[in-house]
Amino acid sequence: MAENGQDNGRRVRVRFAPSPTGPLHIGGVRTAIYNYLFARRNGGDFVFRIEDTDTNRFVPGAEEYIIQAFDWLGIKFDEGVSFGGNYGPYRQSERRDIYKKYVQILLDSGKAYIAFDTPEQLDAKRAEIPNFQYDATTRMGMTNSLTLSKEEVEKRIAAGEQYVVRFKIEPDINVEVHDLIRGLVVINSSILDDKVLFKSADQLPTYHLANIVDDHLMEITHVIRGEEWLPSAPLHVLLYKAFGWEDTMPNFAHLPLLLKPEGSGKLSKRDGDKLGFPVFPLEWHDPKTGEVSSGYREKDYLPQAVINFLALLGWNPGNDLEIMSLEEMVNLFSLEHCSKAGARFNYQKLVWFNHEYIMNTADETLVQMFMPILQKNGINISMEKAQTVVGMFKNRLNFISELWDMSKFLFIAPEEYDEKSAKKWWKEGAAEYVSQLCDFIESAPTFNGAELEPMVMDWIASKEYPTGKVMNALRVALVGAAVGPHIFQITDFIGKEETLRRARKAILYMQQN
Ligand code: GLU
Repeated sequence: MAENGQDNGRRVRVRFAPSPTGPLHIGGVRTAIYNYLFARRNGGDFVFRIEDTDTNRFVPGAEEYIIQAFDWLGIKFDEGVSFGGNYGPYRQSERRDIYKKYVQILLDSGKAYIAFDTPEQLDAKRAEIPNFQYDATTRMGMTNSLTLSKEEVEKRIAAGEQYVVRFKIEPDINVEVHDLIRGLVVINSSILDDKVLFKSADQLPTYHLANIVDDHLMEITHVIRGEEWLPSAPLHVLLYKAFGWEDTMPNFAHLPLLLKPEGSGKLSKRDGDKLGFPVFPLEWHDPKTGEVSSGYREKDYLPQAVINFLALLGWNPGNDLEIMSLEEMVNLFSLEHCSKAGARFNYQKLVWFNHEYIMNTADETLVQMFMPILQKNGINISMEKAQTVVGMFKNRLNFISELWDMSKFLFIAPEEYDEKSAKKWWKEGAAEYVSQLCDFIESAPTFNGAELEPMVMDWIASKEYPTGKVMNALRVALVGAAVGPHIFQITDFIGKEETLRRARKAILYMQQN
């Protein structure tokens, strides 16, 4: 295990290596967070690599989207695309010549071979042989450099015939993958097919070859990635060996799946659509279909809350701590405390995290977020007043955006009254209570809430009126509904004149309805 930034004498280096095939899924964000925490914990490097060798799946804007997402989250890379570093270029499409060199090494050593089979020929084989797989049992019946003469191969290439390079997998070898989360995983090589490593058509390697060559050249010590990549790991181990790089083979750690909030199976975009939560960090506009997918940023989640929530989907700090800063998580992180079992994506828990993070955010910071919302609604007040509002509602907020809806009655008198509240609190006698209360307040020696409150309470007691009925009748008059903060905080904020104006308007309403 890595200690003090070293792994068997090597500096710890991890990478996050997305393919720009669309918006970054929230599971990818979790993978990046674990890599980040591991790198920081071990004083190592965190590399950002773009794996864009599959030109068919390339989506314009996806790379920029990924960079922006981490910028928003506040997750920083040490090197990589857009960050620079000594192991570049970090975009695989800019490393074609490097891969060609390594494909040639495998060809020269007989670990790989050239295959000319056309898609039609492969289809014919599939029709002929049930569960056909291109491997040791079938390769000698195919059109490749193992079955054709050297001259024939050269002739075909010279004539411009398309080919692929396949990895020649020796059958019946037990391939060991040492996984830091799952332990030893053993796979028999006979179940693997001779994977395509390179295609002449676009002169590009496939994911497997590029991934291994880059992990080696970039001196990656730990490959931490989603469980969906576990089936590729034996192949990756064999590639490392084929190159003679077993001494620097990275440690693997395959993270548990993210599961649906309810039911069974893998979390999908459909679950989010159905239950109303995003599965992407930022909103995504699909350049082809124009479809818009929602994002956590636009849905008003705090990036720290998202990180904290995701970090705990598959890892725990060894105790029941839940709210942790990024720094605290760095100090506590270890792959030993990651689980193999899938982690349920309980988005309601994320709402709770967001609430907790708002509660823990300084009022001054919340004011900075609230001011533009006020301005957008045509309200110009001082920072000090805005801070009073924040203080009144902070504890009830799940999202900052709720602040306006909760507080707008402080700025705009209610035009209508909530039917249920009016029915409940404006019964017989309510107009009389509010009317007498107005008179009392008008002639009271002070309007300061802290002093006025006990006076009003004494007055209600002396009259033997029911406190709840009197105060709630006033509340509905001031707020428009039987909700909101402490009544004397409200009167303090809107002032004496406005309090009386709203109360008297409500009395008229009560008398007319
Ligand atoms: N490009 C792969 C992806 O999109 C990287 C997988 C890996 O980390 O090896 O996730």
